[in-house]
Amino acid sequence: MSSLTFYGGVDEIGGNKILLDDKGTRVMLDFGMSFNQSGKYFSEFLQPRKCNCLEDFIAVGLLPKLKGIYREDYIKHARWSQEERGLDAVLITHAHADHAAFIHHLRKDVPIYVSPETKAILNTLEVTGSGGFKDFCNYSCSFEFKPKKDGSGYTKIIGEVAKTPRSLKTFNFGEKFKIDSIEVTPYEVDHSLPGSTAFLIYTSQGNILYTGDYRFHGYRSESTISMVDAAIDEGVDILITEGTRVNEVKGNTEQNVFDKVSEIVKNTKELTLINFPSRDTARLKTFQMVAKEVDKKLVLDLKQAYLLNQLSFTGKDYPSINDQNLCFFAEKKNWGLIGRDDYPQDLILQDYDKWERAYLEKGNVLNFRDIKSNQREYMFYCNYFLLNELIDIKPNKGSRYIRSVCEPFDEEMNLDEKRVQNWLNLFKIDGPHQIHASGHASGPEIFKNIDLIQPKKIIPIHTESTEYFNKKYNNTINIEVGKKIIF
Ligand SMILES: [Zn+2]
Repeated sequence: MSSLTFYGGVDEIGGNKILLDDKGTRVMLDFGMSFNQSGKYFSEFLQPRKCNCLEDFIAVGLLPKLKGIYREDYIKHARWSQEERGLDAVLITHAHADHAAFIHHLRKDVPIYVSPETKAILNTLEVTGSGGFKDFCNYSCSFEFKPKKDGSGYTKIIGEVAKTPRSLKTFNFGEKFKIDSIEVTPYEVDHSLPGSTAFLIYTSQGNILYTGDYRFHGYRSESTISMVDAAIDEGVDILITEGTRVNEVKGNTEQNVFDKVSEIVKNTKELTLINFPSRDTARLKTFQMVAKEVDKKLVLDLKQAYLLNQLSFTGKDYPSINDQNLCFFAEKKNWGLIGRDDYPQDLILQDYDKWERAYLEKGNVLNFRDIKSNQREYMFYCNYFLLNELIDIKPNKGSRYIRSVCEPFDEEMNLDEKRVQNWLNLFKIDGPHQIHASGHASGPEIFKNIDLIQPKKIIPIHTESTEYFNKKYNNTINIEVGKKIIF
């Protein structure tokens, strides 16, 4: 007997957590955070408490109450009884938070299968990110203490000594691997994050294709097409497909974004300000190509430098940090000494984290003075959290702002957008110019896929529009949170 149980992504976009049980082999497909559910209870300054271990997450329905999957240190600290391992593996489609954020909460002996790019991004998030729930590649054992050497009391064990690597296993696209009785072939798909994967899973009861998030209109569309071809060849009994944009027909391609951005940048007389999803390397490449075309420099932040450096280890074709059209921006931190000549270099470096210092001494790192004095030369990546840097940069009249992220879809995002507009008004910056392409396939594309693959059963996930599937296909299965589907 085999079963699928859905603990997230049900009638909502994201939060995918799917438990596959094939004759006792238990595999979790993604382990992501539901933004809907999180937003209902938490905000920037009201967060789940780490000291409460799993309880805050479980109480508000962010994590399912399952045995044998959660981290040993949290279970011990909460004085819950320790459990045997109840999970044989986790397969992660990609490193977006709504698919991967809750890796942090998993016990350390569960093997987690990821693409090399997903590993690079998880590592970047762990090293450069903020917040207390980012043990993605390493497991930092919490709530441990030891007696002090002089016998005068106890000390908490924190920092590097508490760290052990997680059991992260990287796969190569197209190469089959085994988890007990189950075989899995990972396929690369095009999405707004590098290394996104669809899994074809061979169970004792038939083949399951789990698409993750995918599209056809980025620079890796051939990957998605090849994945569909392989699925047709192998045969699919159950198709678990995303349906984020199943209710939409048209949208921009990445090429459209390039054309429109290029037009705007060509006609910008002063500084070009841009915002795009930080780790979307397809968009980064689009802006990099525009920079080349108009002979400007694209100025990214140091987290992006770290990410590109990590991605370079995959040996694949990602933008290089040494590209002559790329620069990196060191924002003011701590004492704000960057760009000052009245302090010694070693004190300036102390304003920054260890990982940042490695980039700071390179020639292609700029500060606000460089950009301020040569505004026409730069396309400056200015996300929401960098807006205050504009006070130092002082954009000249004639500067423009390109907004290359999705439209706001909730109250909080609307408020943020109002703030962005206020900053633009303050410096008389023209914009925002909204230019974006989605990370997801449209309705007709999803349906074409289904018609080609001809699965016996269809399970829509990661969508608020399941009725579109129901109307078209009578072999659609409707899922409920926590309800087992036997197959
Ligand atoms: Zn995604």
